[in-house]
Amino acid sequence: MELPVRHQSGRGGHPGYHRWCDVRLERVVEGLCARRGDGFADVVNRGVAVSEGRVFVGTIDGRLIALSTKTGRQLWSTLTIDPTRAYSITGAPRVFNNKVIIGNAGSEYDVRGYVSAYDVATGKRIWRFYTVPGNPSAAPDGEASDSILNKLARPTWYGNWYEHGGGGSVWDSIVFDPQLNRVYLGVGNGTPWNRKVRSEGKGDNLFIASIVGLDADTGAYRWHFQMSPGDSWDFDACQNMILATLPIQGAPKSVLMQASKNGFFYVIDRNTGTLISAKNFVPQNWTDGIDPVSGRPRMHSDVFYEKPTLMMPGGIGGHSWHPMAFSPRTGLVYIPAQELPLNYANDGRFEYHPKAWNTAIDMSAFTPPDDAAARKALRALAKGELIAWDPVAQKEVWRAAHDHFWNGGVLATAGNLLFQGEGGGEFRAYRADNGRALWSFKAPSGIVAAPASYAHGGRQYVAVLSGWGGLVLNTAAQAEQRRAPPGRVLVFALDGKAILPASNSDNLPPANPPDEVFTAEQVETGANQYARNCAVCHGWGAMGGDIVPDLRRSSALSTPLQWKAIVSEGALAGAGMIGFKRYLSPSEVEATRAYVSHQASLLREETERSTTK
Ligand code: CA
Repeated sequence: MELPVRHQSGRGGHPGYHRWCDVRLERVVEGLCARRGDGFADVVNRGVAVSEGRVFVGTIDGRLIALSTKTGRQLWSTLTIDPTRAYSITGAPRVFNNKVIIGNAGSEYDVRGYVSAYDVATGKRIWRFYTVPGNPSAAPDGEASDSILNKLARPTWYGNWYEHGGGGSVWDSIVFDPQLNRVYLGVGNGTPWNRKVRSEGKGDNLFIASIVGLDADTGAYRWHFQMSPGDSWDFDACQNMILATLPIQGAPKSVLMQASKNGFFYVIDRNTGTLISAKNFVPQNWTDGIDPVSGRPRMHSDVFYEKPTLMMPGGIGGHSWHPMAFSPRTGLVYIPAQELPLNYANDGRFEYHPKAWNTAIDMSAFTPPDDAAARKALRALAKGELIAWDPVAQKEVWRAAHDHFWNGGVLATAGNLLFQGEGGGEFRAYRADNGRALWSFKAPSGIVAAPASYAHGGRQYVAVLSGWGGLVLNTAAQAEQRRAPPGRVLVFALDGKAILPASNSDNLPPANPPDEVFTAEQVETGANQYARNCAVCHGWGAMGGDIVPDLRRSSALSTPLQWKAIVSEGALAGAGMIGFKRYLSPSEVEATRAYVSHQASLLREETERSTTK
């Protein structure tokens, strides 16, 4: 039996891959979807932490909860956020030295990012570190971040960023380094994305889009490395970080590795926070590379999009939160990568809406064309791949191209195997050293999670969540994805005997365009308001994805009063759809109905064409 490892030394062990060529489904568990009664699109949870009889979980409404691993009984619960602001928790807590640490999400809303460390036994807060400076005329926070924010970060910000929080949320990756007794934070984008609005178009805006190293006991600052200075592209540095010892110029070195959203693979000296090397792992057009001394990207002059600019990577990133893996056995890092450009354009009419989505980018530029063939061409631009990367030589060793741009996290085992799911639902095993495909299983819906492996009773299992989530699945590239069946946990073993239940997921209601005539002006106004306020959850072009309804098929579309009750008054607030009365006038609400009706007509025409063929 090969014991599974994700990042540990691969000593001993025989090649186990040949046995896993014949892996079978062992167990199927149906999952549930959480809901949140506020305007937040990304209703997800990236995991729990377990330590000494306690399991720790962050909730979408900002609580951190400790449960007994034996009984599930709640041991303590603490509110980690200010509930009057649009904070949420989507990341997993981490445990170290009798502390549990959690960050938060919401850097498109009205938040100021921070992490908090709590006592595992009592839930009492021990320290907090803010990632961006607060109001310069207010009193200091009285937290571990006070002095470094004042000294280093505040001089890199301009204007009134603090009125909207500034962003910089630590929404996913946090790593504990036992060797140096530190924690490293992956810090997200600023609020709003566009620096022109956020910080008068100036400054690095520390510590957004950075990795920050802190003392694990006190939260005191140790170093930072900013991947994307003055980030205006949603280039969060929240991707997972792998700590390893690599041979650098012939000597072993303690490093931190990240395949960052901005398209570059970074190897950083984790003692000092200085750059060892950086190289792009996906095509990129925004820099002439990374300066080896300063570590700063040599950015092109048009990247702050005074004129509309198509950038690669786009805001989805060359790699997002899907965990990459490192195999000490092969010395390679395995990156779930994607290629998806984004058209950035300054939004001259931007208004700040604290409970809605704020980028200060013209979101209508993301709207896919009405024409089905043009949409198909757009989707063809989007690619997903598994890349095996040599972190010492900074070069690709092999890659596996996927049918789907969005792919799941990676598991590397001591048996020279990799497991990875894909957005299209394939769950595959590869040889880690040369990328040869060994096995695959077609899951009932897309896979975005990372697999896990464990042994019980002398038997090895591989488990993965199948199911869609995340706002990206509603983007233009994803527009034709049909509704997926419920999320499932799939567990595999060599001699598994489970059978996947039949899925009845394809019974979507038909397009429901009302029998009314809207003016072209209404449709255009509606298109703009829809792109600004609705698209991030309900899909660009009103092409809905999975966890939120496809509005083109909604019965409310033909009933103006019902549409108004939902969109304006918040009749479905309990299900997560807030009312937009404070942001949209009655005629704008009606215009969104006109636009969605127009899109519903297109869908009906398309469906009729395809069924009469
Ligand atoms: Ca972000």
